[in-house]
Amino acid sequence: MLVNLTELFASEAGRKEKREISSELEVFSNGAETYQILRKTPVTFLFTNLAAGKVRVEGEAEVVLEMQCSRCLKDVEQEIRISFMLDVVSPEIPLEEADDQTFMEGYSLNVESLLNNEILMSLPTKVLCRPDCKGICRVCGKDLNLGECGCDTFVPDPRMAAIKDIFNANKEV
Ligand SMILES: [Zn+2]
Ligand SMILES: [Zn+2]
Repeated sequence: MLVNLTELFASEAGRKEKREISSELEVFSNGAETYQILRKTPVTFLFTNLAAGKVRVEGEAEVVLEMQCSRCLKDVEQEIRISFMLDVVSPEIPLEEADDQTFMEGYSLNVESLLNNEILMSLPTKVLCRPDCKGICRVCGKDLNLGECGCDTFVPDPRMAAIKDIFNANKEV
């Protein structure tokens, strides 16, 4: 969906316009991976003319992505709230005066492209199905949330051993 901003760029300073726009974004891509968008609200936009050829774009939306728990790989419905404020300029204004505006196509704003950018910025660094997810067993692959499997998963880590030595040494003093 392209939103033509020609009128707003040309209107008097301070002019505001509210618009609710349903995006057509079906998937979110971070360049490496693609995630299904399960649900989304329309984007609530507030456009404000700041000066000739310069418009502030504020907006909010919510999307639900289908992601995977980073510990057990189960599907997780990850809700992401987006809230942004960006200044964009018309093609006649030098780009230094604007924020990154890869989502602008001439005088028009590409809603899907903007939304994809904003989801990327709001993406959680770690997705978990629940805060205390126990993950899967590295030996047999069992989902440890369903119970212990009895495998010996102890992997001696030389760094941990060193820390233990220091700890024990301190205790003896
Ligand atoms: Zn999990
Ligand atoms: Zn196991």
